[in-house]
Amino acid sequence: MKPLVMGAGLVGCTLAIALKRRGEDVILFEKRSDMRKDSADAGRSINLIVTAKGLNAFKNLNLINEVLSITTPVYGRMMHSREGELTYQPYGKEEECNYSISRGELNKLLLNEAEKAGVEIRFEHELEKVDEKNKTVLFKNGASEQYQVIYGCDGAGSPTRKELIRLDDRAEDYIQELDADYIEMDMPAKNGEYAIDKKSLHIWPRTTHMLMALPNQGGSFTMTLYMHRHDKGNAPSFETIKTKEDITTLFEKDFKDAIPDMPNFATEYVKNPQGFLGTLRCNKWYYKDQIVLLGDAAHAVVPFFGQGMNCGVEDITYLLESLDNFDNLEESFEDYDQRQRPNGHAIADMAIENYVEMSEKVGDERFLLKKQIAHKIETTWPDLYRSRYGMVVYTLIPYSLCQKAGLIQNEILDELSNGIESVEQLDLDKAKQLLDNRFTPFIKEHALDLSRFAI
Ligand SMILES: Cc1cc2nc3c(=O)[nH]c(=O)nc-3n(C[C@H](O)[C@H](O)[C@H](O)COP(=O)(O)OP(=O)(O)OC[C@H]3O[C@@H](n4cnc5c(N)ncnc54)[C@H](O)[C@@H]3O)c2cc1C
Repeated sequence: MKPLVMGAGLVGCTLAIALKRRGEDVILFEKRSDMRKDSADAGRSINLIVTAKGLNAFKNLNLINEVLSITTPVYGRMMHSREGELTYQPYGKEEECNYSISRGELNKLLLNEAEKAGVEIRFEHELEKVDEKNKTVLFKNGASEQYQVIYGCDGAGSPTRKELIRLDDRAEDYIQELDADYIEMDMPAKNGEYAIDKKSLHIWPRTTHMLMALPNQGGSFTMTLYMHRHDKGNAPSFETIKTKEDITTLFEKDFKDAIPDMPNFATEYVKNPQGFLGTLRCNKWYYKDQIVLLGDAAHAVVPFFGQGMNCGVEDITYLLESLDNFDNLEESFEDYDQRQRPNGHAIADMAIENYVEMSEKVGDERFLLKKQIAHKIETTWPDLYRSRYGMVVYTLIPYSLCQKAGLIQNEILDELSNGIESVEQLDLDKAKQLLDNRFTPFIKEHALDLSRFAI
């Protein structure tokens, strides 16, 4: 009877490496064939942003240099107006950046590292059922394997989670669909160079829909178009934009400055798969001492905070601490569930809020003023203040506390932006007073470290 990890995605591979290094004789099962031998799914070139909590998990496993070597640093958001005007917002303080990485390349790297660590990987094994009585996992290909523990890392549609819910009367899950889907397109390199600024995440926000660009190594950008799934009157949607002509008309109206750099957008739009977006919450992440969920299997979130994978590999950091702190597996799993589940729910909420922020508010003057005030406060008192965004992506502060701190910050920014038109009119004395009275006590109460996570 061995520990079995279900799913050789980003989280499953990373967990298998961690368990193997702890001396566990773990087997990693993956329903698909080996992606290192097959070509990646066409039209699925998802780019991820790796930030502090994810980097910390890789650092703990001494994999940080390998991971960073396949990333491209991104320092801020570049907004493109309909007229092609550009507005740049730095993410954080100077030199603070996020790292753009190809999900497929990272997955391949982690599969290689898992093999190097001595993990046995069995591809084309799709979990079908958990037979608790015989402590056996049954696979769709007819194979079976006895288990000591099952680590469910099999993604948002997790069959392991479904089995957990079947076995545990108290467990249930809930999927909240977003009203938007996404499709990926390409902005190829131009004579080996990036066609637009390579140090930015580019956004074309248009209230009901938006286009985003993240740089890849080698000069290209992965472009993602987010748009309503169903017809919503005047707003474009996947239901109404069907043909090459439809998408060309939309681009000419809304994303004109991107057209010269995206020679194949119309063909890609009609050819590439439409991706579903939703939030998955599960109210219990473990069953006895037998099953525990990590990554998207426990908490799939919409991608607008760039934290799904970061939170997923952070689950591993929390789980390993819990395994260290208790001799009994069930107690370890319960401790992990109690400490990390609130964080999974918090990042799910914040990701949905960010969707509204990125699509609707980035063109809103009041919102931009509040952002400028936050930036001013952050640069004036770097030891006292960090934006919620900065706490989420640059520190190891738990997501649930970032969320609470964000509520306090929002009240402060509302008060400071009231009655002024520009950041130059900001009353710095009042800002300091509000920080001292409302924000600093929260930071002290929870002993939060605002400093940047050191790679
Ligand atoms: C458009 C988009 C952009 C994103 N951007 C970011 C970002 O910027 N930053 C970030 O941190 N996250 C981002 N994410 C989220 C991130 O991709 C996921 O959170 C992450 O891939 C989850 O990893 P996972 O290993 O938990 O699940 P998956 O990557 O889904 O892996 C699950 C694995 O389990 C396998 N599997 C499934 N069923 C079975 C079965 N029955 N038996 C065996 N194996 C099975 C699957 O084949 C797969 O290999 C984004 C997601 C999307 C869609």
